[in-house]
Amino acid sequence: MSGALTRSLTVLGSTGSIGCSTLDILRHARDRHGAFAFPLEALTAQSNVNALIEQAHAFRPRMAVIGDETHFHALKRGLEGTGIEAAAGRAAIIEAAARPSDIAMLAIVGTAGLEPALAAAERSATIALANKECIVAAGEYFRAVLARTRARIVPVDSEHNAAFQLLDFAQAHAIEKVTLTASGGPFRTWTAERMTHVTPEQAVAHPNWSMGAKISVDSATLMNKGLELIEAQYLFALEPDQLDVIVHPQSVVHCLVSYADGSMLAHLSAPDMRTPISHALGWPERIDSPAQRLNLASVAQLTFEQADMTRFRCLKLATDCLRAGGAAPNILNAANEIAVEAFLARRIGFMDIARIVEDTLSCGDRVLTNQSADSLESVLEIDGRARAIATDLCRNMAA
Ligand code: NAD
Ligand code: MG
Repeated sequence: MSGALTRSLTVLGSTGSIGCSTLDILRHARDRHGAFAFPLEALTAQSNVNALIEQAHAFRPRMAVIGDETHFHALKRGLEGTGIEAAAGRAAIIEAAARPSDIAMLAIVGTAGLEPALAAAERSATIALANKECIVAAGEYFRAVLARTRARIVPVDSEHNAAFQLLDFAQAHAIEKVTLTASGGPFRTWTAERMTHVTPEQAVAHPNWSMGAKISVDSATLMNKGLELIEAQYLFALEPDQLDVIVHPQSVVHCLVSYADGSMLAHLSAPDMRTPISHALGWPERIDSPAQRLNLASVAQLTFEQADMTRFRCLKLATDCLRAGGAAPNILNAANEIAVEAFLARRIGFMDIARIVEDTLSCGDRVLTNQSADSLESVLEIDGRARAIATDLCRNMAA
């Protein structure tokens, strides 16, 4: 890293998989250069107060916020004598996102990341965006906020970070296709019958990536790739026909961009999120990363195959929502969050996730079908209504 690069950073969701990888990059930079190149404004977490206290001692942010207010006293006690401000509650997380810093790393999981993302956008921060649910849920509205505030997004999701590096926006007319790769998840070769018996432990054990529980289940159903198609559509202003998915079990190629002259550019790296995170923190410069390096000789083979949308119905539902637009991606995302939560709590089966999402999408509810998702209120109303319907469907399924 060039010694001159110093940017203040807010890490929202610092105790999760992406949050910890982000702090690992900061630790690496400090070990090499003897100082933090990314002084921290704030760290936030939802409930793991001990991890947050430990991170705050190690990385000295100005402020540490715990979402679950019952942990406020523990946080305050844990930070005594450090001079680090302690706060708690949902409003405090949004307020942390609104405080000035050069980069806001959005590593909260789920639609819970939406309002913090909007708060960071309102102050025209550079947003290192790991959270995909916020952009899937709020789509056009989020894009309008970004356009108004001129906040910039640097995608952290590996496929989108790869696309960001490959896309030549000056030649937008010549971009034919953006193809996202999918590992295929732990059940790539399983029959649908076998998948009905999948347990949460099996679903979160991803073959290539180490991630939080929700995205691991999404990767196993391929909903993750569906959410990513919608994320790519909004991030890069692409038409549904310009987006594609290909299964690539080695997770070495992350994205392919095809141009009008027949060129297809690929981005390769080891499956280690510290590479896209480092890229997003350093952009437009490149910084040192502790990420694994790719050894192609030891990978030996890169293989590709079509995604099976029959066994992986969630991907089919998501591509339908990508084409439908409007409130559909918001409903898809909300129903999926509820269904994944119910699956992780063993209230529904693995194959029920797609059923819950499909039934929520097709329930014909008046609030869901009559709304345009063009304000925060309508986005949140659709999200809340879809969650209520999906919760009822889960309850009926479990009964
Ligand atoms: P995780 O579950 O490991 O961590 C989530 C973080 O969000 C934690 O710090 C948690 O305290 C916080 N959080 C949870 N609920 C919250 C709430 N209601 N309000 C505020 N904070 C809350 O998740 P993760 O795997 O790090 O993923 C984070 C986001 O990044 C997800 O949207 C995921 O899709 C995306 N992403 C993750 C990876 C990965 O490799 N883990 C890759 C690409 C994209
Ligand atoms: Mg991804």
